Amino acid sequence: MKTVRLPDGREISYELTRKRVKNINFRAREDGIVAVSANSGVSVKQIEDFLVQRADFFLKAFEQIQKRARENNKNARIVRYLGRDYPVRVIENSREIAVIDDNECRVFTKSADEDYIAQLREQAVLTRFAVLCRELDSEVREHLREKGLTPPPTRISIKDMKSRWGSCSYTRGHISINSRLAAFPRETILSVFYHEYAHYWHHDHSNNFYRFLLEIYPDYYAHNSVLKQN
Ligand SMILES: [Zn+2]
Repeated sequence: MKTVRLPDGREISYELTRKRVKNINFRAREDGIVAVSANSGVSVKQIEDFLVQRADFFLKAFEQIQKRARENNKNARIVRYLGRDYPVRVIENSREIAVIDDNECRVFTKSADEDYIAQLREQAVLTRFAVLCRELDSEVREHLREKGLTPPPTRISIKDMKSRWGSCSYTRGHISINSRLAAFPRETILSVFYHEYAHYWHHDHSNNFYRFLLEIYPDYYAHNSVLKQN
């Protein structure tokens, strides 16, 4: 996957497949990535120029996809957390909170408004995810120190990101984690943490980067590949 940066700082990620097609084909995918197929005569620069020109179109398409996903999600009486589905049970109660325990997601509310119930549910996921991210962060940092590596002080933010699972601003000591990762297994979330931490030592996605990443997290591909299919 590659990323083009727009003049206003926004980014579009794309995945290029070389195929014997006549023209260049573009498709906005569910995961916020543009799938590009082009024949070998089309240069990367041509593709990226086109993406920049049509940026508004793609960003709007991603917004639409997300809106649709949110609407579908709203009516689903299920919460997906760490790769598991939790049935949602609404309990009439004025606490106005949702909690996820071992077996289910319980929503305590007096309201019957589906939007509002979905909001409480989402909040329950985010609350647990934030705690988990703190744990994973400590785990990764501890492991790096054991390997003789010293990660710089790092601020972790959890954000709903459109086109990436994580990002590392190595100059500022800031790692962003996509809140949508909460739906995936713990090891997958961990693979994103390792990926972003690895950028402190390798800023690009070169072979050296991946070699380093596999040294610090040998199961990287096994756990990270599930994100590619989404
Ligand atoms: Zn990266």
